Amino acid sequence: MLYSSHTSPYGIKSMREINTDIDMDTDTGTDTDVEKVIQILKKRYRAGSSLLMAPATRGDPFLTLISCLLSLRTRDEVTSKAAERLFSLAKTPEAMLKLRIDDIESAIYPVGFYHRKAKQIVEICSTLVERYNSKVPDELAELLKLRGVGRKTANIVLTIGYNKPGIAVDTHVHRISNRMGIVATKNPNETEFALRRVVPERNWLILNELFVLHGRSVCTPLSPRCSICPVYQYCKRIGVTRSR
Ligand code: SF4
Repeated sequence: MLYSSHTSPYGIKSMREINTDIDMDTDTGTDTDVEKVIQILKKRYRAGSSLLMAPATRGDPFLTLISCLLSLRTRDEVTSKAAERLFSLAKTPEAMLKLRIDDIESAIYPVGFYHRKAKQIVEICSTLVERYNSKVPDELAELLKLRGVGRKTANIVLTIGYNKPGIAVDTHVHRISNRMGIVATKNPNETEFALRRVVPERNWLILNELFVLHGRSVCTPLSPRCSICPVYQYCKRIGVTRSR
């Protein structure tokens, strides 16, 4: 029996419960399916209530940008405490530039590469003050000109900081999109462009949050929990050789 008939320890609804919530058809691989997957995951994870980014940083592009930089190769709990300590000292590029680099390092320790990240924060703040009138740019191309800012961070600044369309692709989004057969890509950059083509723009903002939540709790990297997955019916399970 593939699907459990009761709610899992993770609070994941069984397929029977999901089926009563949403009409499903049996087609696969269409744009409509992407829409349905998003609907199901929205219901499941109540996205927006389980925020990936602390509420204080939402709607503030500068805090979003700095939080993203801190989060690279660092666990969420460590990142959020480090961000809290740093933002208690400075919340704008100008205020950040008044801090000594040692103060920034102490505030963000023990995030990964804290020494390098402190330097990067100072460089980015200088660029923002000198070239962008102290404002974080709201264009992808401009964001990518900032030192060390890649497409994922730039898209998160656009979506979380500016509430503008963007698709931030991290390891979860890349893995799940390919497993499901929504895209067939080799790396996160390709995935971002492919998703932009197949996912309706109205769903771009929520996609990252949904797939990250799904990737952490159900569609895990090594052995996904397909037996309790609410979107099993829409998944081609490409490359999945072992599952629970
Ligand atoms: S069915 Fe399995 S592989 Fe597909 S999304 Fe669900 S957990 Fe991931």
